[in-house]
Amino acid sequence: MVFDDYKYERIDIDDFVLKVTDLATKLREETNLEKSIELIDSFNKLNSHYMSMSELVSIRHSIDTCDKFYSAEQDFYDEFSPKASVAINDFHNVLLNHMFLNEFKEKYGTQWFNNMLLENKSFSKDIVTDLAEEARLSNEYEKLLASARIPFDGKINNLSQMNVYSKSLDREIRKEAAYARAKFMESIQDKLDDIYDKLVKVRTNMAKKMGYDNYLEFGYYRLNRSDYNYLDVRKYRDLIYKEVVPLVNKLRDSQRKRLKLDKLKFYDLGMNFIDSNIKPRGDTEELVEKAYQMYSELSSETKEFFYYMKSHKLLDLETKASKMGGGYTTYIPEFKSPFIFSNFNGTSADVDVLTHEAGHAFEVYSASKELSVPDVFWPSLEACEIHSMSMEFFTYPWAEYFFGSDANKYRYVHLVDAINFLPYGAAVDEFQEFVYLNPLCSIDDRNKKWREIELKYMPWKDYDGVTYYESGRFWQIQSHIYCDALYYIDYTIAQICAFNFYLRDRKNHNEAWNSYLNLCKLGGAYSFYELLEKSNQPNPLLGDTLKKTMKELTKVCKKLEKDI
Ligand code: ZN
Repeated sequence: MVFDDYKYERIDIDDFVLKVTDLATKLREETNLEKSIELIDSFNKLNSHYMSMSELVSIRHSIDTCDKFYSAEQDFYDEFSPKASVAINDFHNVLLNHMFLNEFKEKYGTQWFNNMLLENKSFSKDIVTDLAEEARLSNEYEKLLASARIPFDGKINNLSQMNVYSKSLDREIRKEAAYARAKFMESIQDKLDDIYDKLVKVRTNMAKKMGYDNYLEFGYYRLNRSDYNYLDVRKYRDLIYKEVVPLVNKLRDSQRKRLKLDKLKFYDLGMNFIDSNIKPRGDTEELVEKAYQMYSELSSETKEFFYYMKSHKLLDLETKASKMGGGYTTYIPEFKSPFIFSNFNGTSADVDVLTHEAGHAFEVYSASKELSVPDVFWPSLEACEIHSMSMEFFTYPWAEYFFGSDANKYRYVHLVDAINFLPYGAAVDEFQEFVYLNPLCSIDDRNKKWREIELKYMPWKDYDGVTYYESGRFWQIQSHIYCDALYYIDYTIAQICAFNFYLRDRKNHNEAWNSYLNLCKLGGAYSFYELLEKSNQPNPLLGDTLKKTMKELTKVCKKLEKDI
């Protein structure tokens, strides 16, 4: 059976709620352990069917947003899923208060139950209407950005089509494109300011209803962060400022020299070489074949995994007019199938999809074989990015398959991009910390703060006098700030972990790979800190991990630079 044959049927939400409630009532009264386990397994089966159907809808809707059937089904789940969440939450509470709680933990692992405790700290039926308002505002933001129709180069472009010009070898074209983009953003800036202001208020309101002083603590619980708080992250950001910003300053300077420029402007930042861009060789089909060859050579586990993805047609990679933007990986439990979605555009980013997204898919494929509760197939989000970002490095030795004689250039640019990202990731987080600690701050002061943070972490950023950016609004293009509050620093934390897998891989491939494989199999059975311990990984938030990592990485960078 291939993905297109996976059968969809709409979930009857009232019936689902009734069944879950009935199981909860029976479980509450059940005094026999075996019968209790049977009830929990029935719940997991029901929940797994619900997850699978709504996942099929969301995938098929993203593949073709013009398909009226799946578009209507998507609206249906958007509207009624909070009802299901309330019933699931009630069931979870019966589990938490059950006489056999310890026996349940023994059978299903403790993390599932820890997550339920976190769910109670971040969810209640009192905030269901606020959650719907938050989703509505996030949607409004996405639609506004998708409405971009920018006249350039003799045609009308959306924002992602404009991205192509940021890689133009002609500096004038890069500049004009960047200016045209800023002009569009300026035309919607007031609306974007307003949507964000409303989001900050609705989130703060939810936090207050749940008994918190501000959104920060509450938001951390919403992200299932159980091991660290925003004060730990604040210390970690200080380390990025101290250890990474000076290094990126140097990397930017060597980039400037390579490009033979007096000064790097904001429209030059995406350029690495004066006379060429690194592009993968071959069309989508050829790239997938090369990826299969690569995964076959990497390990027997990755070979089996990628063959499964290919033969079940679980990759939708090529860009199409009616397809949603971006890329993601998800999982359909009933069909035991990960799914990879992306929009190939002929740049090196296409290969990053085949390594990054495939890393996510490989983890869930591996974990789902080991674990029985679909809720813990994935760990918390910062841990998820370790699987994907590390796979980008584990596949370095095969870069020749995709880039031929440009492979050294690819490896160097990939590593430098990853380092360059860290200060930006920290800036996005520092901004959000400020915003949620000061929810009544005026829109102007908020934007001023962004500009201040931006200059602190990225002093090399020169906006060439463009008012939109100089007024402190670059952050408006960062969808996470709108749609996934406080979720972003995760990418930097995971990046440090991935660097460490890379450094370990350079020293001893078998040791590093086996440890990675084990981490994937553990899925979300443990918390983030525990997962790091179990895979012998230094913790980026503790001790001098960051300092040590950057020191070693600087040496590697110098070595790679010699070969480009
Ligand atoms: Zn990812």
